[in-house]
Amino acid sequence: MRPAGAPEAGRRPRRGPVLRLKRGRERARSHPWIFKGDVADVSAVDPGAAVTVVDAAGRFVGRGDYNPRPGLCCRILTRDDEALDAAFLERRLGDAVARRISGGVPALGRLAWSEADGLPGLVVDRYASVLVVQCGTLGMARRRREVEAALGRVVGELPVFNKDEDGPAKLEGFEPAHGWAGRPGPATVEVDEAGVGFTLALGVGHKTGLYLDQRENRRRVAGLAADRDVLDAFCYTGGFACHALRGGARRAVLIESSPEALAGARRNLELNGVAERAEIVAANAFDELRRLERAGARFGLVVLDPPPFARSRTQLEAAVRGYKEINLRAMRLLERGGSLLTFSCSHHVSQARFEELCRDAAADAGARLQMVAPLTQASDHPVVLTIPETRYLSGLLLQAM
Ligand code: SAH
Repeated sequence: MRPAGAPEAGRRPRRGPVLRLKRGRERARSHPWIFKGDVADVSAVDPGAAVTVVDAAGRFVGRGDYNPRPGLCCRILTRDDEALDAAFLERRLGDAVARRISGGVPALGRLAWSEADGLPGLVVDRYASVLVVQCGTLGMARRRREVEAALGRVVGELPVFNKDEDGPAKLEGFEPAHGWAGRPGPATVEVDEAGVGFTLALGVGHKTGLYLDQRENRRRVAGLAADRDVLDAFCYTGGFACHALRGGARRAVLIESSPEALAGARRNLELNGVAERAEIVAANAFDELRRLERAGARFGLVVLDPPPFARSRTQLEAAVRGYKEINLRAMRLLERGGSLLTFSCSHHVSQARFEELCRDAAADAGARLQMVAPLTQASDHPVVLTIPETRYLSGLLLQAM
């Protein structure tokens, strides 16, 4: 049911600048993205300001942020006739946090994730006593102060660190924010992920600090690792290896090409008291996997968590070849009964495509593998049925037969 004050279907909306969709561009009723090609006309409006979106007949569709600069020129934030003000942000953030709550606001995890939480352009991650905020649209960047204030009311007065990414900021035309929003917090924080400790330096490294989307898969690794030799390829700061070693793995080999990430891995291995069972290899994982195969190495648990090889659809085929190659090598390194956790975080590679390329790799490797389970992103990165782009992490847990 529409809340009081919302227009009935067919009535004309009342407030502010209006963006009118072309006839037949009805997707905007269930998906938040409007591209320039979908727009019939739009009234004069400041870049980043809110517009009311109507269909070709003038019926209310929703309200969103408009930016003439990128091809994706408007993202709908609400389908109700409500103002996109501080109270709106507080409601949306409150709902996002409430979806994740089990006995209090989680101390580690993603509290709000952009389109998936009805807040396009806003990511909020919690790392113990600190919040990290990432704005990815001009509209959200303009509301940064309101977001901070709303977070204070919803989560509590925690120091907020801004960590915008340069790419989206350039595309949308705003100066990316890096650093403390107001009162500075600690330079480093230590977090607890299911009994495993990680340290991170605010503002350093990938994403907002950790790959929070792999939290549930790292726990799964802990349960599979006892008495195994483990290979953690594309290890970043060693998350999977730390869980495996704490879960009783005999030893772990970590492969990573970024010196900064490797320094983090070293710190995390030490923090968890497992450094003496770990070997860190600073290398290109493609080369190292090939070398290990030639050397006849075998592992009881292999994790392959590469960066996105396809950032656009045109790179898809090259990406598939890359994924296939590393999977083929990993399968040859598995001992009988050993487990392979393999991932793609390219959202252009669907779960079905990923399974197909793993099947091809297994055929070429001559490997017989049981499909134990599909794997995907942690549940605080929710997948919305009508927004397929919210699902981006494909994965499989395979076991050598
Ligand atoms: N598994 C990690 C996240 C991995 S992200 C975790 O749970 O935290 C992918 C990592 O692969 C990044 O740290 C990146 O620096 C690294 N990387 C990218 N290309 C690489 C290559 N060719 N060889 C080795 N590492 C690579």
